[in-house]
Amino acid sequence: MTLRAFANLALARIFAPPCAACGGTIPHPLDGAVCDACWASLATFTPPLCLGCGDPLPAWRATARAVTRCPRCRRRSRPISRLASAGPYQGTLRAVVHALKYDRRRSVAAPLSALMSAAGRDLLEDADAVVPVPLHPGREWARGFNQAELLATGLARPVRRLLTRVRATPPQVSLPAAQRHRNVREAFALNTREAARASTRTGAIARAPAGAEAVAGTRALDGLILVVVDDVATTGATLEACARVLLEGGAAEVRALTAARVVTEPR
Ligand SMILES: [Zn+2]
Ligand SMILES: [Zn+2]
Repeated sequence: MTLRAFANLALARIFAPPCAACGGTIPHPLDGAVCDACWASLATFTPPLCLGCGDPLPAWRATARAVTRCPRCRRRSRPISRLASAGPYQGTLRAVVHALKYDRRRSVAAPLSALMSAAGRDLLEDADAVVPVPLHPGREWARGFNQAELLATGLARPVRRLLTRVRATPPQVSLPAAQRHRNVREAFALNTREAARASTRTGAIARAPAGAEAVAGTRALDGLILVVVDDVATTGATLEACARVLLEGGAAEVRALTAARVVTEPR
């Protein structure tokens, strides 16, 4: 028996830490807070999906007319060009996200990131950087980490903290949908120091037209394709507020990737 196998056995026997999702016993506690059966049963989205908001599209509609966006996304243009999520915010996935956020089980972040990488392969591929949705410093201090940042670090793209939260807002989940856009409208600002670093590192300045240096302070993100990362997308209000700030900063395109997504009514 290896030392690790022995440690797993001893931990499971002595502490019997329950699985953060199902409450059952975890046979290999050193490998994480969620049991293998839960990871295996976790529901992810399967295509066809709307490129704009990530909602499932009715299969017949997608195949019959080569539709790639849902009616809502075809009707109005959004600051976020594309959104993808690993799965619906329910069941095991919801329990895993809760384990990360509220029980501070950081070990679930890496496997969640892996699911997000798979779901967002197309939108990560040519992206210059991933941008975690910031927490208000007070909330991050209380939690000890920003879950969006943990998820972003597992996506194999440069992580840039391009946004700051300038106003504490009540959690979106606690508000009715109509108030969510108002709640976050002015909550975010560009982190100008990080923006300047991002543009020089990724060569955006070199790609920008002559004279761009003069306006680098305000258009620091010129030409960048960015992916905003968060744990859950509810109405998308938070992601859209972040995207607006990045677009005003000069980003060429803003996409979004979340672990889970609240699916709106079928259509
Ligand atoms: Zn479990
Ligand atoms: Zn859509």
